[in-house]
Amino acid sequence: MLKWLVETMFLDIRTLLVAAALAIGVCAVARFLLYRLHPGMPGLGHWAMAGGLGALALVQVPLHGALPSERLPAVLTAVLILAGYTVSWDGHRRFTGGKPLPPALPIILPGCGVLPSLLPGLSHPLAALSIANAVLVASVSGLIARELHRAAAASGREIMRAMAWLYAVNCVFFLGRAVAVGFEPEAVGTVERGGVAVLAILWGLCLVVAATLGMVLMASERLQAELDQQASRDPLTGVLNRRAFASLAEREIARARRVEQPLSVLMMDLDHFKQINDRFGHAGGDAVLRRFVAVAERVLRREDLFCRFGGEEFVALLPGSTAAQALAAAERLRTAFAEEAAASIPAGTPPFAFTVSVGVGELVAGEDLEGVLHRADAALYRAKAAGRNRSELAAAGPFRSPAAAIA
Ligand code: GH3
Ligand code: MG
Ligand code: MG
Repeated sequence: MLKWLVETMFLDIRTLLVAAALAIGVCAVARFLLYRLHPGMPGLGHWAMAGGLGALALVQVPLHGALPSERLPAVLTAVLILAGYTVSWDGHRRFTGGKPLPPALPIILPGCGVLPSLLPGLSHPLAALSIANAVLVASVSGLIARELHRAAAASGREIMRAMAWLYAVNCVFFLGRAVAVGFEPEAVGTVERGGVAVLAILWGLCLVVAATLGMVLMASERLQAELDQQASRDPLTGVLNRRAFASLAEREIARARRVEQPLSVLMMDLDHFKQINDRFGHAGGDAVLRRFVAVAERVLRREDLFCRFGGEEFVALLPGSTAAQALAAAERLRTAFAEEAAASIPAGTPPFAFTVSVGVGELVAGEDLEGVLHRADAALYRAKAAGRNRSELAAAGPFRSPAAAIA
C-alpha cells in the first residue's frame, strides 16, 4: 500500500513537504484570525500559537542542507512539533474549562523528547529521537482526546466529540509510527526513505487541517450554546426565563395528559421584597434572590421546572405531583428559605424575616398552563392577604376566564 502510494502516485517527499508547510501555514493564519475574532474565548490564543509552531517546524525543513549538523535540524523539527502539541493541549484544557498547564511544560516535554537521542553509544540516535517524539505526541494526543471526550459528554457537543475521536486516532497513529521506526531504525533521517514518511506527512496534513476546522466549529458551537443560554435563562439567577419555561411546560402538560399523571404548579412571591431592597440595597436583594433559587433547586426534584417569572416572582412545575404533594413541597421550600435566607446578607446586619408566600394548583382536565397558573396566582394572593409566609391551595378548577363564562 505504502509502496503503491509512493511509486504509482509519484508522491515526492520534498514536494509533499512544501505543500504541507503551505497548508499548515494557512491553518496557522486561520487560527490567528479565529483568535482575533473572539479574543475573550479561552484557549484560542494557544491554538493560534500551536499553529505557528507547527508551521515553523515545517518551514525550517528546507534549510536542513545549509546546517552543519545532520542531527540538529531533526532535533529542531521534533522540538517545535512537540512544543506545538503541548501548547495546543493547554488551549484545549482552557477551552473546555480545565486548569491551564504549567507554563514551562511546552519546554520541558520537548526536552524529554530529545534526551534519549543524546545518550552515548546509540547506533541510531535519530531513530531514538523519532521514537521518543512519537510516543510523547501520542501521549499528548491521548490526553487532549480524554479532555475533549469528557467535556463533550458533559455538554453534549457533537463537534467536540468528533474532535476527541480525531485526537484518539492521532494517538494510535503516532504509537504505530513509534513501532514502525523501531522495526526499521536505519531508515530514519534519509529524506528519500519513502513509505512511512510519506504517510506521516499526509496524515499530519490531514490532522492540522481537520483540527483547525474543528477549532473553528467548536468555537461556533460554543457561541451557539451561549446564545441559547442567554435566550432561555435569567441572567441573575441562571434559572429558566418565562419564555423558555412556557415552551417546556407545554410539553410537560401534554405528556402528563398522555400518561394520565397529575401535574401541579407553585406560584411563589418573596414577601416584602421592596423592604429588603431598602434595607440591604439592590445588591443585597439580588443576593436574596440567588439564595432563594439555590434553596429551591435543592428542595425541588431534577425533573421539576423552575423559572423566574419576573422580579421576585418564581414558578415551579412539578410533573407527577398531586396538589397535596405539591403543597408539601411548597412548605418544605418555604421553611428552608426562612431558615437559610439570612446567610445571603452580610453578617452583623439587623435581623430580617425573609419569607415567601406560595399558591399551589393542580392541573385539571380541560385546563391549560395559563388556567392553572391563574388559579395558583389567586391562591398566592390569598396567602399574601392572610399575612404572608404561608402556602395556599388553589380553588377547584378548571379556571374559566370571564369572557369564556359569558360566551
Ligand atoms: P409583597 O410582600 O406584597 O410581595 O411585597 P413586595 O415588596 O415583595 O412586592 P412589590 O411587588 O411591591 O415589590 C417587588 C420589588 O422587587 C420591587 C422591585 O424593585 C424589586 N425587584 C424586582 N426585580 C428585582 C431584582 O432583580 N433585584 C432586586 N434587588 N430587586 C428587584
Ligand atoms: Mg411581586
Ligand atoms: Mg413580593
